[in-house]
Amino acid sequence: MKILQKGFNFSQDGPGNRLVYHLQGCNFRCKWCSNPESMSAEYSSAKNYTVDELFDEVKRSRMMFFDGGGVTFTGGECTLQYEELIELLKKLKEAGISTAIETNASSPHLIEIAEYVDYLIADFKHFDTDIHKKWIGVGNEAVKKNLEEVFLSGRQIHIRIPLIHNVNDTPQGFVDFFTKHDTSNAVFEFLPYHEFGKDKWSAEYEIENGFVSDETVKEFKNLFVSNGLKVVKT
Ligand code: SF4
Repeated sequence: MKILQKGFNFSQDGPGNRLVYHLQGCNFRCKWCSNPESMSAEYSSAKNYTVDELFDEVKRSRMMFFDGGGVTFTGGECTLQYEELIELLKKLKEAGISTAIETNASSPHLIEIAEYVDYLIADFKHFDTDIHKKWIGVGNEAVKKNLEEVFLSGRQIHIRIPLIHNVNDTPQGFVDFFTKHDTSNAVFEFLPYHEFGKDKWSAEYEIENGFVSDETVKEFKNLFVSNGLKVVKT
């Protein structure tokens, strides 16, 4: 598996203390991406590991998985390496280790992968297909289809919405999409825009003043909650 970086963090990418693997490669091109070096399938700093090497590393780290922690695969987009990812997730499940993925939710294999995941975190960046395509490079049809399947399945899901001024900072369209479904198995989180990755872009950085105000975040929260959607903050 091609890994860009790895390290521990607490409670940001799933519950408890987690060993987080950033897998190299992404099929989206979000113009605000804070890890642009993770997009390309090849990157000089990324390293290859076998499934067994990673499994052994995770097992050796077991003592660190306190407060309900475990291992999280993120990216880039972790589902692009789905064959090896599923193989590793299966081994981890058999070993009783908590698994999580953080995904852009576009993979045709997402539902299959989710079978082996204890904590599913998915981004939802825009409800409108054309606007999604404008800022991300591809439409949102696959994302919506996957989310709809997860809602129907009853599987728990944590949906993260990055909030970017002049891209997606009005809540009604999101609420209209989510309230069409039974989302009782879902929680929602808002991630206000930041510029941590701006200096890493070699191509032109096209987001101008993407920051959203506290009032905007509050507006999202209030509209979601008043429509019966569960909002969380990690
Ligand atoms: S999905 Fe994530 S990793 Fe991929 S381009 Fe968008 S922000 Fe970057």
